Amino acid sequence: MKKKIAIIGSGVAGLTFANLIKKNSDFQFMIYEKKESLSLDDGFGIQLAPNSVSILNTIDFRKVNSKDIFHPKSMDFFSIKNEKICDLEISKFNSEYSKYTTLKRSTLIEFLKDEIYNQHLRFGKSIKEVTELKGKVLIKFTDNTNDLVDYVVGADGIFSNTRSFFEKKKSQPLFKKAIAVRLIFKKHNLDINEKNISLFMGSNLHLVIYPINQKNELNLVCIIRDKKYDPDNIKSLIERKLITQNSNLKDLFETDLQSWPLYSTSKILPSSNNKVFYIGDAFNGFLPTMAQGAGQSIESAYELFNLIKDENLDASNIYFKKRFERTTAVRRRSNFNFFAFHFTSSFMQKIRNFFLKFLVKKKYFINSYLGSVYKN
Ligand SMILES: Cc1cc2nc3c(=O)[nH]c(=O)nc-3n(C[C@H](O)[C@H](O)[C@H](O)COP(=O)(O)OP(=O)(O)OC[C@H]3O[C@@H](n4cnc5c(N)ncnc54)[C@H](O)[C@@H]3O)c2cc1C
Repeated sequence: MKKKIAIIGSGVAGLTFANLIKKNSDFQFMIYEKKESLSLDDGFGIQLAPNSVSILNTIDFRKVNSKDIFHPKSMDFFSIKNEKICDLEISKFNSEYSKYTTLKRSTLIEFLKDEIYNQHLRFGKSIKEVTELKGKVLIKFTDNTNDLVDYVVGADGIFSNTRSFFEKKKSQPLFKKAIAVRLIFKKHNLDINEKNISLFMGSNLHLVIYPINQKNELNLVCIIRDKKYDPDNIKSLIERKLITQNSNLKDLFETDLQSWPLYSTSKILPSSNNKVFYIGDAFNGFLPTMAQGAGQSIESAYELFNLIKDENLDASNIYFKKRFERTTAVRRRSNFNFFAFHFTSSFMQKIRNFFLKFLVKKKYFINSYLGSVYKN
């Protein structure tokens, strides 16, 4: 009998896992998504380093229209006043087919859903109850449907509800006292190279700008430290904290803004059930300061898929051990960036900029800080 898998959540992690299963195995699977549809209207961008692009290539990522993606070659570092500090050639980690790629999140989701839309996707589904039955897991949903499966893959994001049904030990995500504000724009008065990723570092905040396609659209994400998330007052937050540091940025924010409070997983906990796995943010949610959240979602899906495909009897332990190591390395870097990008004292900013200029030229440092993450 074919083994059956329930994937809970249709974000980057769940959809990548489903594509791998569909393309490379004869397992049966169904994705159960809480929302009533896939969120394709999210206009914002996402960065994918070669570690995740190489995995996406195994499910034909190259078929995405080249007009809808971009391959930035360099990351340019600026002070918040738009004074250039230094640059880092990120394309050095590219291989012929796996290049650092930026695109709209909706472009990525469209690609991932292409092969699996109707047959394997159920919307409006939330777990109500789970029971173990003859070596399988019986999932009952709130709409009174159910499914009996061999494996459950929790891919339902940082606040994973799946965990609450299977795990006694809880690890609540922590609000990092920071807020992300995003927008897409074309016109600006900044002194940047639009083909690169531009990172501006200010006091208690940073912003990242990068191209997301060949239509001159640029994505901007601004991370601001603030103790409270107040979605109704984002414009005044921007005014108070950002525009006071560089008034040239004002025009960019005269548009509809999307914002999120930033959370990260406090403690990485294993699954206590060898039929249940967590991937993507449900395994660990990162700060976005290494731009690896989606990348790690894709990697985790790939690692788990390989273990399940080979019917590895120790899949649960092997998966957790490898993922824990990888996640810890990325977490450490994301947390360090979050700290170093936001110095408030001009003295500390000068020291940071001095080291940054020095380190971007050091092959050994760059290979170990970025290369070890970008190369899978
Ligand atoms: C500001 C910001 C910028 C970022 N930039 C980048 C970047 O440049 N590069 C990068 O790699 N990453 C980036 N990330 C991170 C990245 O977006 C996430 O890490 C990634 O999308 C996580 O994917 P996921 O599938 O695990 O979870 P999610 O995308 O959260 O998907 C979870 C899915 O599960 C569904 N769901 C939730 N609860 C239930 C339930 N109870 N039952 C069923 N379904 C449920 C949700 O509706 C959703 O569809 C950024 C994040 C932020 C906040």
